[in-house]
Amino acid sequence: MALINCPDCDKEVSTVAYDCPSCGGKLREPERTLFGKLCSLVLGLLSLGLLIELFGGVGVLSHYVFDIPPGTDEDLVIGMWVVVVLIAGLFSFFTRPKKR
Ligand SMILES: [Zn+2]
Repeated sequence: MALINCPDCDKEVSTVAYDCPSCGGKLREPERTLFGKLCSLVLGLLSLGLLIELFGGVGVLSHYVFDIPPGTDEDLVIGMWVVVVLIAGLFSFFTRPKKR
């Protein structure tokens, strides 16, 4: 295990540490995993899709994205977007960067 010197207190700390064990100074930020990054990307795209549906007219996207036939009940379409965004939000939440 490699050691570096803490920029705050100059004590030796492990390169895998997120915080200095001596002074508590922040050494590096935890990063999202690739899957986590993918989840937040999907969440961003779906949230954008929901906004486009809300402001651009219900059905403009869902017809292509979810293969919903035109004329489907608008509340149903928006409800489905919300559910999908919520599910993506949960994935994004549980894959958020955390210290191990
Ligand atoms: Zn330190």
